[in-house]
Amino acid sequence: MKIITQAPELKEFTKNINQSIGFVPTMGALHEGHISLIKRAKRENEIVIVSIFLNPTQFLKGEDLDKYPKKDEADKKICELAGVDVLFLPHVNDIYGSDEASILAPKVRGYILEGATRPGHFNGVLTVVMKLLNIVAPTNAYFGKKDAQQLNLITLMVKQFFMSVNIVAVDTVRESDGLALSSRNIYLNKNERKEALKISASLYMAGKMVSKNILDSKEIIKEMRATLEPLEIFYVEILSRDFEKLLHVEIGNTIILVEAKVGTTRLLDNIWL
Ligand code: AMP
Repeated sequence: MKIITQAPELKEFTKNINQSIGFVPTMGALHEGHISLIKRAKRENEIVIVSIFLNPTQFLKGEDLDKYPKKDEADKKICELAGVDVLFLPHVNDIYGSDEASILAPKVRGYILEGATRPGHFNGVLTVVMKLLNIVAPTNAYFGKKDAQQLNLITLMVKQFFMSVNIVAVDTVRESDGLALSSRNIYLNKNERKEALKISASLYMAGKMVSKNILDSKEIIKEMRATLEPLEIFYVEILSRDFEKLLHVEIGNTIILVEAKVGTTRLLDNIWL
């Protein structure tokens, strides 16, 4: 596995490649969720490039940028074992200058749900993803469905900026008890880890209601909120794949999204129906 830290070096490397490139951007502290993105990229491309970059611009003041888990050596091993060809490990100064233009998330889609409580978060996400896609120039780029709003905004950006990369959505990987894998799960103590299960439980319950043909969004959200008690809920929403509010679940066109706080940790999850 080749390790590259400088953007110009990676640009030069990819420019000279005539094979398909699969790209998996991450912030590190890699887990099985990331590995499933890498494996999918391996299956569908000749060359796989992974980036690990803790992007400061997507963290708001007072968020967990400074304590975000770092596992540099373990991450390198995971990438090597997964058959990654190039690991891109840029420094902040290689990605950002002192006076930066930024990509702005659309006013509506970027400022609802997670964007409502983290205003500006998606501006940072879109800016760094644009930069990384320009450096790597991949054929395919892989993103998790777990971050559904991020995936939606990136897909929109790629379309609206006429970029030629293909965005691939990958299913959420969970622990055996249902908890969606996240680098932030490490913040949970034993009791919080148990409480966190209410999030996936609420989604499974919604899925069960839908399978019994209960499709009314209000009714489902009410039951989900009851299941999530006493967690602090940021939102429970039933949206179309295009992020429009749905009064009724439409099979094949629905995402049910939850974000809640467990202890001091914000956790998000969703199911696609
Ligand atoms: P992060 O390192 O948290 O920025 O995540 C990097 C990529 O991995 C993003 O596209 C995430 O959506 C994706 N990802 C994170 N957790 C999971 C998971 N449990 N299953 C699948 N993909 C995930």
